[in-house]
Amino acid sequence: MDFVAQLKNLPRKHDFLVGYDSDGCIFDTMEIKHKECFCPAFIKHFQLQAASKYAREVWLFVNLYSKTRGLNRYPALQRALQLAGEWPVFAARGLQPAPFATLQAWIESESKLGIPALQAKVASSQDADLARALAWSQEVDARVKDMVYGVAPFPGVRECLAEVRRQADCIVVSQTPVEALWREWQEHNLDSLVDFIAGQEAGTKAEHLSLANSGRYAPQNILMIGDALGDYKAARANAALFFPIVPGAEEQSWQEFFAHGCSRFFSGTFAGAYQQERLEEFERALPEKPNWQ
Ligand SMILES: [Mg+2]
Repeated sequence: MDFVAQLKNLPRKHDFLVGYDSDGCIFDTMEIKHKECFCPAFIKHFQLQAASKYAREVWLFVNLYSKTRGLNRYPALQRALQLAGEWPVFAARGLQPAPFATLQAWIESESKLGIPALQAKVASSQDADLARALAWSQEVDARVKDMVYGVAPFPGVRECLAEVRRQADCIVVSQTPVEALWREWQEHNLDSLVDFIAGQEAGTKAEHLSLANSGRYAPQNILMIGDALGDYKAARANAALFFPIVPGAEEQSWQEFFAHGCSRFFSGTFAGAYQQERLEEFERALPEKPNWQ
């Protein structure tokens, strides 16, 4: 299935386009996915058992509690291995974690950072480090499938999505595999409130917005809603507006959107002071440096 072509050819039914990130924005799934699925597989596949407590701290900092929250899993893996390598507690336990050169090269040359592309690269290169990253990634997906269900959307999400849909074309803009996205959006009957679900197989978040736009919407009529800096960057790359769902204050953020953000977007009073206030609140919630440095 060609996700890119589908996204590019979405019917334009309204003057407005809204992109929703999924994990940690619509669904309260970030904690369970990272703590119960990504992190145990990270410790196992990269032999960090001897420093598991610190490996867990590194993983959660990179993926939940800092500016890199929501990063695609492969660059997030590299960042976690880098931070672990710089933290002496690992060396003190005989471990020398470090990012993988071949994985880095793949990340820099591939725009669809998902299992299908990595599988193809492993098959053509026979590289052991890429194979290890693939095994980790596949185990993560298996763990998510086994573990993550029954996680409802944040309170207020459904009302907001229904309200937005009256006036905007809506897409999911995510770096999660599309199969998992469909499962989650269908489980909670939210799939009928969006026109398309774009996952990691359809490229980056910035590409999703750009493809769905394809020059058909005015920049001030495009809004991205997300809980991570990457969501904001995707919006900026498209000169679009951004409404942050602030980590730790998600419910209040959706209340704010329902009360003010949504009507401001449709009436053209979102940009400027209102956008700035939302961004400042968001920046404060996501530190740059870990507290152990
Ligand atoms: Mg997110």
